[in-house]
Amino acid sequence: MTTEEGRLHGRQTLHRLTEETPSAHPARVIFCKLSEDCWAETYIMDEGENTARFIIRIQREMDDDFVKGTIAHEYAHCLSWYWEDADHGPAFGLAFSKVWSLLFDEGV
Ligand SMILES: [Zn+2]
Repeated sequence: MTTEEGRLHGRQTLHRLTEETPSAHPARVIFCKLSEDCWAETYIMDEGENTARFIIRIQREMDDDFVKGTIAHEYAHCLSWYWEDADHGPAFGLAFSKVWSLLFDEGV
């Protein structure tokens, strides 16, 4: 189960990523109850409107230790959203690499 501190840190992580490498739309993270086999998902709300934004939903049952890596993965989906149709194709891989080095190589 994520703690309040874990959720705060997750939101800070996402905020930092959106500042350092902006996606096509603003991104927001929500911690909520998802089905048992789903740890996280990302979708666009209001696609095609000025208010379009990425919504990253994270399973609230997740331990805090996994939140940062999960946000890295989901934000890579935001960055590569319009680049390819495949979920985890080469564009996703490039985006994930960039996000990973921002978060983990530079000790953010
Ligand atoms: Zn994925």
